[in-house]
Amino acid sequence: MQSTEIEQEPEAISSLTAADRCDECGAQAYIRVELATGELLFCGHHGNEKREALQPIAISWLDETEKLLAR
Ligand SMILES: [Zn+2]
Repeated sequence: MQSTEIEQEPEAISSLTAADRCDECGAQAYIRVELATGELLFCGHHGNEKREALQPIAISWLDETEKLLAR
């Protein structure tokens, strides 16, 4: 008999929600970039587009695009 334990993923504190929108196009954001000057949100498309330019100067880079692929 198998137990039906619900596995809980430890959510990142700064997890993105459906209310977070891409700064470029307004689509749901899956990437949060923390810069010295502030925070930017991007959808998967624009996050990938900006990654090369922004990642080297980003304080933190939260990429939740795997949520897109998971469903
Ligand atoms: Zn976008």
